[in-house]
Amino acid sequence: MTVPTIKLNDGTSIPQFGLGVWQVPEDETEQVVSQALEVGYRHIDTAQMYQNEAGVGAALKTAGLAREDVYVTTKLNNSQHDPAKAKASLERSLLLLGLDHVDLFLIHWPLPTQYDGTYAKTWEALVGLREAGLTTSIGVSNFQPDHLDKIVAETGVAPAVNQIEVHPYFANEAARSATLAHGAKVESWSPLGQGGGELTDAVVAEIASAHGKSPAQVLLRWQIDRGDIVFPKSVRRERLEENLAIFDFELSAEQVAALAALDKGESGRSGPNPDTFD
Ligand code: NAD
Repeated sequence: MTVPTIKLNDGTSIPQFGLGVWQVPEDETEQVVSQALEVGYRHIDTAQMYQNEAGVGAALKTAGLAREDVYVTTKLNNSQHDPAKAKASLERSLLLLGLDHVDLFLIHWPLPTQYDGTYAKTWEALVGLREAGLTTSIGVSNFQPDHLDKIVAETGVAPAVNQIEVHPYFANEAARSATLAHGAKVESWSPLGQGGGELTDAVVAEIASAHGKSPAQVLLRWQIDRGDIVFPKSVRRERLEENLAIFDFELSAEQVAALAALDKGESGRSGPNPDTFD
């Protein structure tokens, strides 16, 4: 099973598929990530906020893979936006992860109300962390079109990725197309809608049965075909295997259109709205 890689605007490459570990309890994380690495995952998406970086680090240590063979992302916690705090906060993540650099470091949320729109200063701090070699690539998460415009206007540096909520019930097209317009790639979070209604949707079920695949595999394949990067979460080995087994079938143009038609707009959003979340 070969996972495609995607070229980022800073010249590096990222595996298009991986494991997300949000809500994986710290005491289970080592075992879950170890299992994923055994199954063939080579891209792990964690965050300071998830409080499980140490578990990710323990699994990486036990697996003993070459550093360049595993792609690791973490994200700046909401309490660490102050540029004076960002470096120490990434250094702490590196200690927990047992790494001397991460592959990708993101601003987790823009928090435009909490910090009075100073996220461009935080972004400037991330540019410095990349220059210092603590992270290979830098990006953002949950940035709306105007947030992206602002950081690029103020620093001249576009993020490599914008990690945003995307699944058929919430296509998030405005943020998605603004991300692509800046030359960044979309990482789509909660690609399975957090295990919600899309997995039992009749349209998804029909497409799944036409391919002899599961609804989860159809949802993931749809996003892969659109060029987005995905890292579905599961703690169960059989689901880790199932979610990875998506590179041996193709959706037809009609099936892609049928999935796109499931978009419910703003009411399909499962997470907070980044404009007001603080
Ligand atoms: P998800 O969409 O990946 O759904 C995960 C849930 O789907 C599981 O808990 C399980 O209930 C179910 N599931 C998984 N595999 C399945 C299968 N094969 N069949 C049936 N059900 C299955 O949810 P998520 O964890 O919210 O999103 C994935 C990752 O995205 C996170 O772990 C995290 O890394 C990232 N994320 C980032 C942000 C952000 O603000 N940047 C927010 C949310 C998630």
